[in-house]
This record gives sequence, C-alpha cells and structure tokens, in this order.
Amino acid sequence: MMRFLFLLSLCAALLAACAREVGPEARIAITQRPGAVLEVVYELRRAQPGIAFHEIEGDYRAARWDLPPGFEIRKKDGAEVIARRDGARFKTLVLTAHPAQGRLPKEYQPVAPYGEGGVLVYTGHFWPLTKAQARADVVFDLTPAPGGHAVAFGDNAMALHDWQSPMAHPAFVYLGPLEPIETGAVMAVIDPQTPGWIVEEFKRLVPESFEKLSAMFGAAPETKPNLFLAAVPGKPAQLSYAGDALPAQFQIMLEGGVWAKPNDQARGVFLQSTVHEAVHLWQAAARPGASKPPEWIHEGAADAIAAEILAALGEWDAAAFEADERTARTDCARELDKGTTLNGARAKGYYRALYACGHVIASAVARAEGASTADFWRAFIDRAGPEGYSEDMFYDLVAERTGDPDFAGAVRDFARKPLARPEREIDGLFAAAGALARERGR
Ligand SMILES: [Zn+2]
Repeated sequence: MMRFLFLLSLCAALLAACAREVGPEARIAITQRPGAVLEVVYELRRAQPGIAFHEIEGDYRAARWDLPPGFEIRKKDGAEVIARRDGARFKTLVLTAHPAQGRLPKEYQPVAPYGEGGVLVYTGHFWPLTKAQARADVVFDLTPAPGGHAVAFGDNAMALHDWQSPMAHPAFVYLGPLEPIETGAVMAVIDPQTPGWIVEEFKRLVPESFEKLSAMFGAAPETKPNLFLAAVPGKPAQLSYAGDALPAQFQIMLEGGVWAKPNDQARGVFLQSTVHEAVHLWQAAARPGASKPPEWIHEGAADAIAAEILAALGEWDAAAFEADERTARTDCARELDKGTTLNGARAKGYYRALYACGHVIASAVARAEGASTADFWRAFIDRAGPEGYSEDMFYDLVAERTGDPDFAGAVRDFARKPLARPEREIDGLFAAAGALARERGR
C-alpha cells in the first residue's frame, strides 16, 4: 500500500512538472482594429466547456462583445461564462469587443477610446478565471493598429508578446499612436485633447507630489508608475473627473467644458483627485487580503492623505484642510442617514460613503494617535505583509497605535453597526479621539 501511495504521489509530482513545462493555461491575443475595436483570440491549452470571467454588473459583456455563431454568454455563480450552446468543449475562441462611452460604476473601465485613434485596455475584463475563481495563468499578446505603440508600465513597444503584468495583477495597456512621455519617476501617456493648462499642472504636480509621498511613506513604488491622462469634450457646464488606480498605474479621464480654460474650481478638483489617485500607488504596497476588507479603508485614507499632501505642498492652508474634513463629515452623515451601515454602503450603491466615512475614520484615528494618516499607512503596509490586510488588522493597528482598545472598538462599531444619528456619532468619534490625545499628552 505504501508503495502504491508513493507511486501515486510520484505521478502527481511528474504531472505537475509536465503541466508547468506546457506553459500558461491560455494565450490571449488582443489586436486593435480601427475605431478602438478589439479582436480578441483565446487559445486554451486544453479544450474546455467554457471560459469564465469575473462578473460585471449589468450586461456590459453581452452588449459589447460579438461572439462567434453557436456561442453564448451566461451568468453563473458570480461569474460570466462563454460557452457553446451545444455544450461541446473548445480550444479556440475569437470575439470582437466594441468600445463603450459610458462608465461602469465602481468597476475598471471597459474598452474605451483613448485620445485620437487610441484605446485603453483593462486586461482584467479579458482575463479568464480558474474553477476556484482565481485568475488563470495566462499570457497576453497586445498589438496596436499599424504604426502604433503598446504601452504598459515601463514598456513602450510596437507590440507586447508573451506579456504578463510585472505586478501580477490586471493592468491598463494603451494601444494607439501616442508617444509616451518617460521621466525618471513615471511613464505618462497624455491625450493631446487635454487642455494645455491641465497638462502643465500635471507635469508640475506629479513630480512634486511623488516626492512628498516618497518622503511620507519612506519609499518609492517598486515599479515605475504608468499614468494616463485624457479628456473628452462632454457638456459645456460639465466638470467631471474619473480616476481609476491599479498597482503602479492610474488613469484620469476629464469630461466637460469647464476644463477648457484655467479656473479655480477645475484646478481644485484636478489637484485633489490626482493626488488621491497618486496616493493609491503607494497604498498598493498593502493589498487587500482574501477576506475582501471594505473599500473605505483605502479610499478614505487616500482622501485623508491627499489632504496632507496638498497641505505639505502649500496648495492648501489650514482653513482649506479643515473645510475638506468638514465636507467629509457632512457627506458621511448624509450617506449613513440613508439607512445603511458603512460596511453595507457599497452593496447599496452609496459609493460616496466609502470616501467620506473612510476619511472621517482616518482623520479621527490620526487625531487620536497624534500622527498623520500617512504615518498610519506606513505601519499598515508593514503589518499587511504578502498575505494582504484584513478589516480586523486595521482595528488591531488602531488599538495598538492609539494605545486604547476601546477607541478601536468605537471605530469598529462605527463601521459595522447601524447608527441612529450618524452626525452625532461622527462628532462623538472626533471627541473621543481628541480626549484620548489630550489624556496621553499627544
Ligand atoms: Zn480612489
């Protein structure tokens, strides 16, 4: 029996070794066609009954992806699966993905036109899942329309072959005619439709804020960050800023006529939102762990740290800093008054709560420990380690750094429990933080 078991495990080891030699589970070739349309070819290592993807709310894939005859897309157990109608296995799938103009709520953006003749691809939407719903081991071939560039992280090439993200995570890849701007700190792709004054602000703000962030966090990001900045006309009175951050990347999409000429309102939104996205590049050193901690932990801290950076850069005086915190308190109370807990806000679509209430918590914790939110995150990154962080890890670090488990308990209750009078609870949290700081001489 022992010998049989031994043989069995030897075979298993051999099989594993063979599987590694065969290479990735799938090759995904994405080729840009005119008008930001993508042709996507899946070559699977073995024939499969379907290809599963993480689910996107609504019918985004069904409406934008053209499948070959005999194939369909269906939702199943929190995934979207492309399969043949007759149930037969297949090894190759060729589909066409059409661009979308609208944004997906709290989701990385779909295939979207990016500047004249360009397209920004988020690989996560095309990345198949394993049976355990993890990202499968895949390689990408990414090819721009003739004469274009493929840009991702530090790469700027005519095409990317056998490509895997250096961050082992879904990423943005630009395909198109724009020549990226590479500096010591970043690789930037800037759409020439972006108003000139915004480009000047961007070129000034990025190095200044990156330097402050490196000083506050005690390190620079490991991979050279990739920044994408684009603008679309929109409506004359519109001022919309959409930002998406990924490890070592962020993209900014400006929309509306208010961006066209320099003005204080647009400049204020641009500075605050861009620094918020930049903070995510540093926060990415601590990944959310398998327990999927709530997003207010990193979104609220990004707002709080952005305020610290803008103050440190001299962009904000004390009054502006306080006004920003007051706005967070007011918005948080308003969101929680809608009848949700903070931890339940995302599921109900109250996304503003994640930012405002997360900011409230970050600021109250900073007050209690007599330090900054950037200081807290420096310690939080160390604590998170390679396994990533959990919600409990956050409260444990609050207890440790403030020296008061009761205060950490109050923060936990604030996030988890329904609050009868949110405004009073917020005041209470700041009062407790102030009292704790005074009591401990901080
Ligand atoms: Zn954010």
